[in-house]
This record gives sequence, structure tokens and C-alpha cells, in this order.
Amino acid sequence: MSTETIDWGKLGFSYMKTDFSYISYYKDGQWDEGKLVEENTITIAQSATALHYGQQCFEGLKAYRAKDGSIQLFRPDENAKRMNRSNERIMMPELPVEKFIDACMQVVKANERFVPPYGTGATLYLRPFLIGVGDNLGVRPAPEYLFCVFCAPVGPYFKGGLAPVNFMTSDFDRAAPYGTGAAKVGGNYAGSLMPHEEAVKKGFADCIYLDPATHTKIEEVGAANFFGITKDDKFITPKSPSILPSITKYSLMHIAKEYLGMDVEERDVLVDNLDEFKEAGACGTAAVITPIGGISHKGNLHVFHSETEVGPVTKKLYDTLYGIQFGDVEAPEGWIYKVK
Ligand SMILES: *Cc1c(COP(=O)(O)O)cnc(C)c1O
Repeated sequence: MSTETIDWGKLGFSYMKTDFSYISYYKDGQWDEGKLVEENTITIAQSATALHYGQQCFEGLKAYRAKDGSIQLFRPDENAKRMNRSNERIMMPELPVEKFIDACMQVVKANERFVPPYGTGATLYLRPFLIGVGDNLGVRPAPEYLFCVFCAPVGPYFKGGLAPVNFMTSDFDRAAPYGTGAAKVGGNYAGSLMPHEEAVKKGFADCIYLDPATHTKIEEVGAANFFGITKDDKFITPKSPSILPSITKYSLMHIAKEYLGMDVEERDVLVDNLDEFKEAGACGTAAVITPIGGISHKGNLHVFHSETEVGPVTKKLYDTLYGIQFGDVEAPEGWIYKVK
């Protein structure tokens, strides 16, 4: 397909076939060389653990086109390390960090014509995943594994860019207190489809998950992390073993502290004490920062800064992160990997 017909500024967050993806197989205790392939399908055993027991994990990161035309990745080493924490949790083999980064680089280079131009706000989204394959029947780790990275050019995850959206708390949980919430494993997401659908039907962008043990504390905003800005300008984000540790969130904590001179705290965020925040947002690779207009809890809508305008602190955080990711603001050492 020709990329000339793509309207880069109008891309949503959806799949588009690109030219190449990367595949590597793990057999007899080792990974093969790995290679780029043109097809966007895979053939696996009917009895693969990935299909029956959810033995699979994934990552998400983006390639950004800078002003000078070069392409860069944002903290891919952190995605590689997180994938290995997921692998460990569900008994899948370790994937060397260098192999993960090399696979991402190869996929970006091979699909360079799909990396959106600078200034469109669009990026090339990379989706690495690792799954258990091979013949197996009982509940046990798979005999073989497959690691793949594919990509698609994407625009903003929530429509409207930096326009605030509203969320509602869910009565469902996405993860158990000491379950797999901190691992990016597929099993956490099938169960989120219904609460998501319920929230959308009621006119919200997505649902907010509370802590599974007491349902009194905010944990996640759909598949993004939560942050709030207190009236005295502290950056607050929830701490819990069932939250997926967002690389965007940890990057924002660093930016808040080192670039904006704010105090930063990871601690409980009580859903009955939202008054402590003057602004709030959701953050993640796909969402970047999505300002939270309001949160509906037990039928009452709590509005933060505004339902229509982004707050000034959230805007500063967004501009700094976005600037770093696209190469316009100097990044902390080691955050940017140039694709060469
Ligand atoms: C991937 C993900 C995030 C965001 O993580 P980033 O590393 O910032 O992309 C947040 N919450 C959930 C549940 C996720 O799956």
C-alpha cells in the first residue's frame, strides 16, 4: 500500500498493515537469530498455552520522528525490562534486553515509510509480544515460545488530544490484590472489556479501577495510570502491587521533580478525597497524557480543573514529555535511542 494516501493528522489508534514485522522462536532453551517477515499472520499449535491458559505478555512503545527527520525510541530498555518481569511472573523465558531493542530498531527501519512526519502528532506504535506455543495439554509452561514485534502508525488513543474526558469508577476489578496486575499479561485485559463497554455506554471514555481489596482507592484509569496535582502543586500517583508500572508515569514523576521543581509522591489516592486535587490525568504510551475532566463515583461527578480545558500543570507536564519524546526538549541521559 502507498503511504501517500495516509492522512497522518487524522490517524486514530487502530491497526494498519505495514511492510515488515519481526519474529524469533525459542526452542530447546534458546532464542534463534530472529528475522523480519512480510506476512502479518502466524501459525501456532492448536494446543498452545497462549490460547488456553493466557501464557502471553505484551509491550507498547512508539517511534517518534524528530524535526530533523531522524527517528527515535523513548526508553525501550524500560519496556524490555518490564517484559522480562512479565515473563518471569508467568514462567516464560527471559528475552535479552539487547535482543528486544534490536528487534524494535529493525522493525522501525524496515517500516520507515510508515513513521509519521514530525509535527503531525502521530507516531509509529510498536507492539512486541511473547507467547507460549508448541504442543501441550495440561496447565504448565509451554515447551516453546514466540517473540514478535509488529507496528502501525497511530494518532491519539482518546479522541480529542489534550481535551479532558470523563471517567466512571467500576465495580469490577482488573486484577487481584497480589495477582498479575503489575505484569503486562493478556489475561488482565479480557476481563476489562466488559467494564470498559459499560463505561462507554454511559457516556464515559473508560472506567477507573479501584483497589481490589477495599474499593476505596484509585488504581488505574482503563489501561493507563492515574496522577493528580494537589492544590499545593504536588504530583501524586497511586502506589499498589496491582497497578501496572507505567513507564510514562515514572517519566512524568522525573519531569515533575527535575524539570518543573514539583514534589512527587507515590501513595494512596482515596476516591472519597478527590477534593485534594486541582487537576488530574491519565498517562501511558498510547494515551500520553489525557486530562481527566471529572470522575463519576456512585453517581456523583467530581470535576477537577474543568470538563473542557486542560489545566496549566497538566499542560506543562504534557509539553515537556512530548518535547522530550520528539526531540525538541533535552532528555535525561539514556532516555532517547536514535534509530540508525
Ligand atoms: C501499558 C499499560 C499502562 C501504561 O504503561 P506505559 O509504560 O506508560 O505505556 C498503564 N496501565 C496498564 C494497565 C497498562 O497495560
